[in-house]
Amino acid sequence: MFNAEVNRALNAAAALINTAEGSRSAKHTPDTLETVEGLASFLEAQEPELQWSASAADDDQLQKVRQLRSTLRRVWEAGPHATDELQLINELLEGVGTQLVRSAEAGEPEVVESPIPVSSQTHHVMTARFAAALSHLVVAQETRRLRICRGEDCDAAIVDLTRNRSKLFCDFGNCANRAHVRAYRARRAAQQRAEEAGSGRRPPAQRSKPSAAEKAEELSRPTSDSAVAAKEFRNRMRDELMETRQKKLEKEKDSKK
Ligand SMILES: [Zn+2]
Repeated sequence: MFNAEVNRALNAAAALINTAEGSRSAKHTPDTLETVEGLASFLEAQEPELQWSASAADDDQLQKVRQLRSTLRRVWEAGPHATDELQLINELLEGVGTQLVRSAEAGEPEVVESPIPVSSQTHHVMTARFAAALSHLVVAQETRRLRICRGEDCDAAIVDLTRNRSKLFCDFGNCANRAHVRAYRARRAAQQRAEEAGSGRRPPAQRSKPSAAEKAEELSRPTSDSAVAAKEFRNRMRDELMETRQKKLEKEKDSKK
């Protein structure tokens, strides 16, 4: 979506956030960044172009990368246009310089901007990459691409690099599939209720049990304030997307008339 360096840094940032303990696609996952070995394997797993050396991992770097991870999580959860977001990114940018380098990537401008880290320490090198990529996103007004998976019981950070901003779910499990099934069941339940109401028939006894939609609603109810805010933001994004889809469908219908 952006240039290769920005895409790479954003993917690595989401991957770093997802090393934290949490729920990925309804499965509890432990913190994988608790030891120096954990940091080394994270660094090793990133794209080689980032040139993050696993041999540089030590206790000091581990603590600093963990701090960086929590800052990134806050950026992801801040939502577009939050003053918090700008402040956090500005903090990351502190001391980071810019240089012009010849790009080795095909299909890109010959010369691109590249960040100069505060020092050659791993956490500084990582911070510079993330800060440069995030500021690119802010300037392009594209920070809404930083998302938390919409899947039920999933808090994975994702970055949507699709042209039409359509990526809503993570790749950890079957979040997208589960959401579709849930939405389908909720629609069915609503339809059934409407039919029953229409026929004037008394609903059967088991109707007093919560419907699938109600259960889904109950399950997706966030528990902390920040989770509430994040959930509201996600819901708003989903509504916007649904609205756009609906409008498109109506347009198509109209053109067929
Ligand atoms: Zn997910």
